[in-house]
Amino acid sequence: MTPIKLAIVVPCYNEEAVLPLSAKELLAILDRLIEDGKIAHDSFILCCDDGSKDATWAVINSLHRKDNRIKGIALAHNRGHQNALLAGLMSVRVKCDAAVSIDADLQDDPAAIIEMVDKFISGKEIVYGVRNKRDTDTWFKRTTARLFYRFQQLMGVNAIADHADFRLMSSRAIDLLADYSESNLYLRGIVPMIGLDNAIVTYERHARAAGESKYPLSKMLSFSIDGITSFSAKPMRMVFFVGFALLIIDLLVAIYVIASILFSDHLEAGWASLIISVWFLGSLILMAIGIVGEYIGKIFIEVKQRPRYAIRDILFD
Ligand code: UDP
Ligand code: MG
Repeated sequence: MTPIKLAIVVPCYNEEAVLPLSAKELLAILDRLIEDGKIAHDSFILCCDDGSKDATWAVINSLHRKDNRIKGIALAHNRGHQNALLAGLMSVRVKCDAAVSIDADLQDDPAAIIEMVDKFISGKEIVYGVRNKRDTDTWFKRTTARLFYRFQQLMGVNAIADHADFRLMSSRAIDLLADYSESNLYLRGIVPMIGLDNAIVTYERHARAAGESKYPLSKMLSFSIDGITSFSAKPMRMVFFVGFALLIIDLLVAIYVIASILFSDHLEAGWASLIISVWFLGSLILMAIGIVGEYIGKIFIEVKQRPRYAIRDILFD
């Protein structure tokens, strides 16, 4: 069996603190796989600098000088984790047989890559890394994540629970991914749509090795909204059903009011119920407009077909 050529793609945004550490660990994994005869000597690591404001690109350059299995591309400006990852995958797809994507912070256990490669060798084209414990995340992150996965399922998005962007894809799978041209990129939703033979590898998620999270609550929230609205029109339908139910309630109230006028001689003064329903309906209408606006916003972004990233520098020799 000839060893496969593996690429490891690492999106990096302001990761100067952790990158030397991660590079060392990932190189050790490559060495081990080479020793076992599973991957070729020219397998490599591609660090995608996502427009970092710190010395990340300089760090990538110096790592490259020390070991030229470390390659790099730099995006012209910060386009977010998903786009940085996409840029990386697109840059390596003709240069490898399979690519593993992993975060720079070593939260995903690099040792799981070995198992992923085994699965690839046995014929799987997509291998999802699924974390089996979340002890190291804060209670808040665990709970919000769980709620998010549940809600996503409810909304009909077909994503794999507890799988982030730690996965192996064959170059064929990456080629198929290239056909999805959407700007609101949510890889966890798209990759399962590709199909092909796939498998799962479980691993323990660690705490960040150094530096701090680049996903504050605001980014997490907008990412989750993207994750649902890019894939499903259910929220819009829900608004319709809520409106329909309210219409029926309204009708019953109207019947009651007319009956009161016809068959009794006094009407309730009832401004309390009036004011409550005005506020209630007002907020519902606003919510509905918000959801519709979300989709229109998406259409607006998508029809422009703007490039999802621009590469400024390449370090690939
Ligand atoms: N990242 C990126 N661009 C961004 C934000 C993050 O490329 O705009 C990278 C980051 O360097 C890391 C990965 O995406 O490799 C995941 O980010 P992070 O670990 O900060 O997120 P968390 O694990 O806290 O959700
Ligand atoms: Mg992280």
